[in-house]
Amino acid sequence: MNRPRVQRVVVAGGGTAGWVAAAALVKQLGPLLDITLVESDEIGTVGVGESTIPTSRSFHQLLGIDEAAVMRATQATFKLAISFENWRQEGDRYFHAFGENGRRSTWMADFHHFWLEARAQGFGGDLADYCFELQAASERRFTNGEDAPINYAYHLDATRYARFLRTLSEPAGVRRVEGKIAQVEQDGESGFVTALVLESGERIEGDLFVDCTGFRGLLIEQTLKTGYEDWTHWLATDTAIAVQTRATEPAVPYTRAIAHQAGWRWKIPLQHRVGNGIVYASAHLSDDAARAQLLGAVEGDVLTEPRLIRYRTGRRRKAWNKNVVSLGLASGFIEPLESTSIHFVKIAVMRLIQAFPFAGISDAQVDRFNAMSVQEVERVRDFIILHYHLTEREDSAFWRQCRDMTIPDTLAERMALFAESGQAYQAGDELFRVDSWVQVLMGQGMAPQRHHELARLMPKEQLRGALDSLKADIAGRVAKMPAHAQFVDRYCGAGEG
Ligand SMILES: Cc1cc2nc3c(=O)[nH]c(=O)nc-3n(C[C@H](O)[C@H](O)[C@H](O)COP(=O)(O)OP(=O)(O)OC[C@H]3O[C@@H](n4cnc5c(N)ncnc54)[C@H](O)[C@@H]3O)c2cc1C
Repeated sequence: MNRPRVQRVVVAGGGTAGWVAAAALVKQLGPLLDITLVESDEIGTVGVGESTIPTSRSFHQLLGIDEAAVMRATQATFKLAISFENWRQEGDRYFHAFGENGRRSTWMADFHHFWLEARAQGFGGDLADYCFELQAASERRFTNGEDAPINYAYHLDATRYARFLRTLSEPAGVRRVEGKIAQVEQDGESGFVTALVLESGERIEGDLFVDCTGFRGLLIEQTLKTGYEDWTHWLATDTAIAVQTRATEPAVPYTRAIAHQAGWRWKIPLQHRVGNGIVYASAHLSDDAARAQLLGAVEGDVLTEPRLIRYRTGRRRKAWNKNVVSLGLASGFIEPLESTSIHFVKIAVMRLIQAFPFAGISDAQVDRFNAMSVQEVERVRDFIILHYHLTEREDSAFWRQCRDMTIPDTLAERMALFAESGQAYQAGDELFRVDSWVQVLMGQGMAPQRHHELARLMPKEQLRGALDSLKADIAGRVAKMPAHAQFVDRYCGAGEG
């Protein structure tokens, strides 16, 4: 088949997804492509999405972005963990941190088996004592010197982040067009999108269209009618209200996720302000009650009008359909509990770059891209469901529903395996590592019936000595670190901004 070559790329939308896509495409393939980005000031962006995961650092390195510069430009702080509060029970708290449990290289089975053996013998303390990043988060300390390897991500101002990426992209060759897309033209035979027509009458032709138009999915859904797989029966929240406040304390290096009777609340500390929001199931909590709950709970002066955002959890049936690749909210949405959405944008755009269809779009290429997207997103979906399903809360219909619902087989099998044997795994290209699964499974209250018998081979005093020295080493390293807020000030302080 004679396929048209792909050279003209049109990015529709200038939120985080649009500018991430434009910046990456121009950096990696700039001389080979002609890239245009269309965004509408009148429509604006979703304006949230401020907590990231460590893959953001690799993305910045690939783009040659200086860390201190992007942090200064986005009033960013460091993130080492998420503090889950009231999830297992009201009053309970655990951290899911970006670090390893124990020290992997020294153990024949995963560390937690040895820790479980120690617990069975009556010592060992908390699993949390053996994770460096977790301890640093809990002590609110941070440093990223070369002599102190540490796994971290960022909290950043979403609007400033898109603006920062724009300042890199335009000089590198991305043409930005401001205006509202009024019409999407398609080829009568193939159905491929051929051009975007703006309200001004301007017509922007392209070979490949990257749909970053947010929840509306202007090209992927409104034009191509791709369809949506709904996951609301597993993840029942469908609304968020976001509000920004003035900081009342030095920024901590973790996101707070505080469960309430019908969802949870976030608190994300930036240098110049705090991002707050409430996520809830509208079937269980009214918008007015949620708004009142959020405003009652935030600390510090309220800086913005609370903003209500509706969403539908799920994924587009095909992330890539014909000559439209959807990214960001246009491709689907899993609620922000583990801050994975921007990661999905970044990984998808890298995948597009790696297999860029210069010689024309083939079905095989599209199928591969879509299969990988599904795998990635479904595993993250399972991880998020775990937080809701594995709970001891019974105080509201929402939590009882979460506990009693039927979960995906993939998650049910994983939970059963851990419950009976203490085995956790990271499958294939899965995002979350064994350490993450173990921290959340145990943090939510699951105690495995057994652990690997290999741990019994270690003499008691040797096991005790190894654990004590690991714990002391972590505590010693953490004690030498500066306070997080102080480090941020020195490293990338942006002033009032
Ligand atoms: C409540 C909530 C909290 C979140 N928290 C996190 C988080 O902590 N971490 C994380 O990784 N992700 C988070 N996300 C997801 C994150 O916000 C998004 O993945 C990210 O902002 C990308 O959004 P977007 O660019 O796809 O969409 P948007 O920001 O909505 O951008 C859409 C763009 O399309 C343009 N557009 C739309 N229609 C037209 C038109 N007709 N003509 C021209 N332009 C048009 C708009 O002007 C805009 O520029 C959160 C999402 C929600 C809803």
